[in-house]
Amino acid sequence: MKALTLHAPQKIHFESVPDPEILAPTDVIVQVSEAAICGSDLHVYFGREAGLDAGTVMGHEFTGFVVAAGHSVRTLRTGMRVISPFTTSCGQCYYCRIGLTARCTQGQLFGWVAQGKGLQGGQSELVRVPLAETTLVPVPESLGSQTSLLLGDILATGYHGALPLNGAAIRRVGVIGFGPVGMMAWQVLLRMGFDQVVVFEPDFSRRNYAREMGAEVRDPQDTESLTVWLDQMPGGGLDGVVEAVGGAGPQQLAFWVVRAGGLISSVGVHTQPHFSFSPAAAYDKNITYRSGRCSARHYIPDLLQWLDRGWDVISPFTDTFDLREGAAAYERFANRTPGCMKVLLKP
Ligand SMILES: [Zn+2]
Ligand SMILES: [Zn+2]
Repeated sequence: MKALTLHAPQKIHFESVPDPEILAPTDVIVQVSEAAICGSDLHVYFGREAGLDAGTVMGHEFTGFVVAAGHSVRTLRTGMRVISPFTTSCGQCYYCRIGLTARCTQGQLFGWVAQGKGLQGGQSELVRVPLAETTLVPVPESLGSQTSLLLGDILATGYHGALPLNGAAIRRVGVIGFGPVGMMAWQVLLRMGFDQVVVFEPDFSRRNYAREMGAEVRDPQDTESLTVWLDQMPGGGLDGVVEAVGGAGPQQLAFWVVRAGGLISSVGVHTQPHFSFSPAAAYDKNITYRSGRCSARHYIPDLLQWLDRGWDVISPFTDTFDLREGAAAYERFANRTPGCMKVLLKP
């Protein structure tokens, strides 16, 4: 089969690799109909996250059809359309039972093979899914395949970021960063019905994109007007924010724009070793900080219900590439080309 593989930082190859095979009775092989490039793929692409074996098949966002199943698989049949979360989960361990499927003791991230161990990714024609019955979720035919694809990571991650804000004392909220995840978090927050949802985005074209969708947008680089604006807020800031970027700058901004007693819900991937604000500063502002990988598998059924009730998610996909053009697709997304929000790959 054909797949996108990583050979060195910024070296994506479109090449032939062996077809995946059923290795355990609980495995399923999925034929990928659509895959996507994620912001977190860029950490690997740029070498900020190292250790991946050369030739690893990239990607953890994919949807498609079951084409083969191990002999103990009962609930999934050939031809079923499925969405996969970006990690596998067993459905039985302590963490799976409390809904923290992102920390399943047997969980593996797609597109991560180090020293021969791990899972190949979904930016390919076929992908092996271990623990398939408790990892994959069948999706209704009525659901568009692009929306289905969003459920596996960024829509679930936006939901994961927004959920902790869903409390009685929280009325005015924000989203740090209007990338693909921020865009999803913004839509979830709107649907949750907060009094005010503000987007903070430094990039000019992404600010315009957000405005065109009707978002209230602020430029975090304009510190003077931001200071004035915050002074006018009850309590001097927002009640809570979803930090959807990762890194020291977005974290600092989140800390700045929430009021005392505010909540920071961080879903951006962080690779820095230290917080950008001190424990003393957090104490002095009574901050609540939530962070961590999204338990996408746990949230997909809730989100399917929202979608079934007619929730119309604005698609983040601005670019579609054939899988064979994967290197160019990565380049376009990685360079933050104006107008490019998220890339869809068609095997
Ligand atoms: Zn992702
Ligand atoms: Zn588990």
